[in-house]
Amino acid sequence: MSADWSEGDLDLAATLRDRATEGTRAYEHVSSLVTEVGPRFAGSAGDTAAVRWALNTLGTLGFSQVRTQDVLVPRWVRGTAEVSILAPFPQPLVAVALGGSVGTAEEGIEASVVRVESLDALKALSADAVKGRIVFIDQRMERTRDASGYGATVAIRSQGPSIAADLGAVALVIRSVGTSPDRIAHTGGLTYRADAPRIPAFAVSNPDADLLARQVNAGKPVRLHLHSTARELPPAWSANVIGEIPGGERADEVVLLGAHLDSWDVGPGAVDDGAGVAIVMEAARLIGRLGRKPARTIRVVLFANEEFGLSGAREYARQIGEEMNRHVVAFEADLGQGPVWRLDSRVAPEALPAISQMLKVLQPLNLESGMNTASGGADLRPLREAGVPVLDLSLDATNYFDIHHTANDTLAKIDARTLDQSVAAFAVTAWLAATKQGDFGRLQSKTE
Ligand code: ZN
Ligand code: ZN
Repeated sequence: MSADWSEGDLDLAATLRDRATEGTRAYEHVSSLVTEVGPRFAGSAGDTAAVRWALNTLGTLGFSQVRTQDVLVPRWVRGTAEVSILAPFPQPLVAVALGGSVGTAEEGIEASVVRVESLDALKALSADAVKGRIVFIDQRMERTRDASGYGATVAIRSQGPSIAADLGAVALVIRSVGTSPDRIAHTGGLTYRADAPRIPAFAVSNPDADLLARQVNAGKPVRLHLHSTARELPPAWSANVIGEIPGGERADEVVLLGAHLDSWDVGPGAVDDGAGVAIVMEAARLIGRLGRKPARTIRVVLFANEEFGLSGAREYARQIGEEMNRHVVAFEADLGQGPVWRLDSRVAPEALPAISQMLKVLQPLNLESGMNTASGGADLRPLREAGVPVLDLSLDATNYFDIHHTANDTLAKIDARTLDQSVAAFAVTAWLAATKQGDFGRLQSKTE
């Protein structure tokens, strides 16, 4: 017996888990998104098509209250990028502009290279060593299951440009923040500080970073030529797309399942975050077909523009207003297709026994127990900071960063069985959260 759930609700959780494990329609949803929409970078025509796709799909799948929330998004266009070694041994490199980068002048940039292996090493350089040169940050991302390798490296991309500019660099080139051994570069957003000059920034593929490092280490001065037509356009409209599985006795209380609808422009975003979109839609759809309403409403939110500034997450938190207090718990899928291997929570201490109970139902899916320090993910940060409890159903990220933010993020990388396991974990967790007797408490506001 459990204080939190009736036997009937626990039995239905097991039913959901076993049905999803036998097979779901999640692969079909990803296939539909990447076939009918493809790349959907914030503010692009693909983004508009994705919003239409999500509205149609949620409607067709039987969701209630299908609707949009308009979101204003920044607009950036990549154009073309070129990075080549001029000396000592001329060769073209495979490169992409970092998201948000300014372009170069028509004639491009030609300068010598200064190589560092970390942001700290860059900060330790004198302005004399950097001024007028191209900084090359050659920090390799480590492959990990929990994405900690990404967390440890991503600042070279997000903060590197302004730190290099502080020292007088004319441009930044980084080793891709990604683990692909192939000749393919990983993009991703940068953040210019308001008080630093804006310099163009590029990522080169891992093998090209190796090549550049070998030339630098050969001891002769290395000169690069860079060219980019990246540019900013006026902001554009996008939208969060929302659909619900209606609750029963406590229908005004919300269990939120999130994913982001947008993708980078370089590929069709099958895994980032087509997989997440499919996992949360399918998990909720399966609950809707159980034949019994959950006590609380399960709300699927497909957020606009996660990749280039979290616009949809902020707008959602703003538009729900005081309904924030009736968001009982939130979790999202934005770390690939799975499998789910661990459950972390960030709930009030008195709700921890319920988390242990949830884990028991999830056990046949091979989940480990985690800590009560879950982040909830990028799109849920405004909710978490407002005190909404969050969960992390950790998706296995071991291979995720081989394709993350690259042209290789295609349907070929999706495995239907893996998606089914993730759907099972999300469906069980959503069902239990929506049928639990008490809530998960509230977090102190602004927790980190
Ligand atoms: Zn993502
Ligand atoms: Zn991403």
